[in-house]
Amino acid sequence: MTLLSSAGPVRTPDALLGIEEQVLSDMNAAELLWCGRAATALYWAYRLAGSEGHREEELEVILPAMVCATPAMAALVAGLTPRFADCDPATGMVTLESVQAVWTARTRAVLFVHLYGQTADLDQLAHWCHEHDAILIEDNAQALGANTPNGLPAGATGAMTVYSFNPTKILECGGGALQIRDGDLALKLRELLAIERRPSIPDADRRALLSLSYRNLHHSLVALRRLSPDLDICTSFMRVRPAYESLLIRPLDDVSALAAGWHELATILERRFEKAEICCELLEDEGPWSLLAGWRTSGVCWRFSLLFDAPDRLVAFSEAVRRDGFHVSNLYWELSSFFRPEDACPRADRFARRIVNLWVDDSVSVDSVRRCCESLKIHGESAASTVASHPGS
Ligand SMILES: *Cc1c(COP(=O)(O)O)cnc(C)c1O
Repeated sequence: MTLLSSAGPVRTPDALLGIEEQVLSDMNAAELLWCGRAATALYWAYRLAGSEGHREEELEVILPAMVCATPAMAALVAGLTPRFADCDPATGMVTLESVQAVWTARTRAVLFVHLYGQTADLDQLAHWCHEHDAILIEDNAQALGANTPNGLPAGATGAMTVYSFNPTKILECGGGALQIRDGDLALKLRELLAIERRPSIPDADRRALLSLSYRNLHHSLVALRRLSPDLDICTSFMRVRPAYESLLIRPLDDVSALAAGWHELATILERRFEKAEICCELLEDEGPWSLLAGWRTSGVCWRFSLLFDAPDRLVAFSEAVRRDGFHVSNLYWELSSFFRPEDACPRADRFARRIVNLWVDDSVSVDSVRRCCESLKIHGESAASTVASHPGS
């Protein structure tokens, strides 16, 4: 019912009212806050989660170790300390047990990310969070329109849910949103919005350069960690991290693009699903990998993902496929190495060293998806059968 524009919070404009009503009814929620990024939505979710605590206490939020760094960056801006839960080695997503393992009396929130379009039933986690006074936040950035295995929409269980509609996500028309299930929490958000001092937003050129710098930094540090698993990257990362804070808070100005984009969702998801089925058909049992299959039950494939069996050869393998002209990525890194090495997450570390993501969005044709799979098959076998050379050994 509120939109964060450059001029501050305003009532949801007419162009988004119908969509808002639909989302709130599908998700059984009380409030939507439209904003420019999921990062901004996360910031407000954390602010709400942290608003209960005593100021002297260092309050914590439990985050998945296997995702982009944005949720942790936003937590620090909102004044919460990120803690990291290790992942299920088969999916990369956190489990109730891995969340329990890092819980403390200072935990105020738990973020569950539906990763790559995979989903999970969250009843148990939601129940456990409720009993421990922690707010469960769902991150739907990679699972817009997905269902959980028990048939609920992803995003319909947590006390809050964040969305991203920015480039590389499922809808790419720009924007983000925070959904709040409960009326009291929604009221508290309005109170906070009314007294929040408005941050200064960097202009487009400055933002572009900062974003580029941030991406390069992330890639550089991940590459170093690949080479030297024991190297400390946290100290230098945490020292420069505040320089990127201004990127996280962004208003939503292009309402009409979002309203138009929304109506494309069903057909976008169908085209993605069709490409995922092709990948599955061509790659299943055809190379040194196992395929992640959660997209089939969720109905949403963000990136088609496989776990490569020879982690030492992952970079050579993906580089060979890129040289053939195809998008493949292995971008996410185990996040505690950036933010909090004490929370070591060995399963996420191993997952990050094996994951390969393939594009199934509208930037690739069905034909190029087929050819990409052929390239993977050729380079997969040869990379996995080459003995890796270990630098320094
Ligand atoms: C991309 C992404 C975000 C951040 O989205 P923005 O709209 O760019 O802020 C947050 N969480 C997840 C899981 C994402 O994939």
